[in-house]
Amino acid sequence: MKEGNLEAPRRETIDWRSAEYADRDALDQELERVFDVCHGCRRCVNLCDAFPTLFDLVDESDTMEVDGVDRADYGKVVEQCFLCDLCAETKCPYLPPHEWRIDFPHLMLRAKAANFNDGDAARSRSWWRDRLLTSTDPVFRTLAVPGVAQVANAAANVTPLRALGERLAGIHRDAPLPEFQHRTASRRVRGGAPATAAVPGTNTTGKVAIYLTCYGEYSEPDVVDDLVRVLRHNDIETKLLEGTSCCGMPRMELGDLKSVEKHKDRNLPAFRAAVDEGFDLMSIVPSCNLMYRQEAPLLFPEDEDVARIARAFFDPFEYLTARRRDGLVKLEFARGLGKVAYHAACHQRVQAFGQRTREFLSLIPDTEVTLIERCSGHDGTYAVKEETHAKAMKIARPVVRRVRESGAEVYGSDCPMAGRMIAQGLENGSSALHPVSMLRRAYGI
Ligand code: SF4
Ligand code: SF4
Repeated sequence: MKEGNLEAPRRETIDWRSAEYADRDALDQELERVFDVCHGCRRCVNLCDAFPTLFDLVDESDTMEVDGVDRADYGKVVEQCFLCDLCAETKCPYLPPHEWRIDFPHLMLRAKAANFNDGDAARSRSWWRDRLLTSTDPVFRTLAVPGVAQVANAAANVTPLRALGERLAGIHRDAPLPEFQHRTASRRVRGGAPATAAVPGTNTTGKVAIYLTCYGEYSEPDVVDDLVRVLRHNDIETKLLEGTSCCGMPRMELGDLKSVEKHKDRNLPAFRAAVDEGFDLMSIVPSCNLMYRQEAPLLFPEDEDVARIARAFFDPFEYLTARRRDGLVKLEFARGLGKVAYHAACHQRVQAFGQRTREFLSLIPDTEVTLIERCSGHDGTYAVKEETHAKAMKIARPVVRRVRESGAEVYGSDCPMAGRMIAQGLENGSSALHPVSMLRRAYGI
């Protein structure tokens, strides 16, 4: 055995179909073991509310150790985890191959899966609310229907209706909600080939199939349009993937792993066909990219297609940077962006390809980028739920303050939801701009 854990940390596959995975006693034993290590370490105390909740339970117990915490209270820690992955990917020295084999987010996922299975029998108000919030495909599709979209967007700003929504559904009255567009991405955006044949780079094919995702299709079609224009400006062939559904990340946050599998099975044929035709894959939402780059391969390690798809997925700026290294990207810009406050989304950071968005935006003349690497607080449904909205706003506050203090003329995040969260915190009626949209603006296209 090597001394001192000199090997690179790795995430282990998730054996979510096994009997032990769902076994409550085995789960509680593992929670106690991992909580004990975290109590001794406390390195992640400022990442989210899961760790302070755990440490308070320990410190207020009779023994002031994990064995003094009532196992019934373990769920209080689990509730505060929104699976951002930061603790595992940016802090924890005890990931495998370390003998302690700590993977805090995936242990939280296991506890959420157990809770989901138990909750399936209970069907409380929050059960229905959580099902609604994570059914992004049918909900977004319905709310983007012409006529319905205008009403839904207007209703989101009517205080008595939001109060009613909070009382009946547990959706916080002040939570930032997506806007719905009846002119969806697939209705308004067209891909296409460049004038000359696509030029492959060292790691890229020069052909990109865009996975629309729920947000891209129904809420942020402008960003999809901007991405297509930026790619085509750089002589990259583009097409929109048809016949795909939600990536499954919202259901994963809920612990509903069978639904994650259903989404994977629905999406795989379109991904596979595009990769077979020589296309690389990407979306405008880091969480959706993360699902197919990291989470799906760990959940479905036996599926060779999932591994192949994972290798074909890119972040937009990771892709442009790879093409730039091959001299295949245009670096002439029509205008600078001035002061930019750029928030690096957690689900992008944990993909561990570096600060490609910041680097690329910094290539634009007359542009000064302030990088903000803190959680925006949106975190899937965390900012939307009645019981966690205030905590989400508290998490967002330092990010909002950094944006304000930077004096930025433009601000935004790779994650459209984080961008909305920051805009809400600024309270000045401004809107965030996705970095892809910033780049289009700088190109003047
Ligand atoms: S995954 Fe994120 S939210 Fe969950 S415990 Fe780790 S840092 Fe906190
Ligand atoms: S997850 Fe790892 S780094 Fe974070 S508190 Fe626990 S043991 Fe420490």
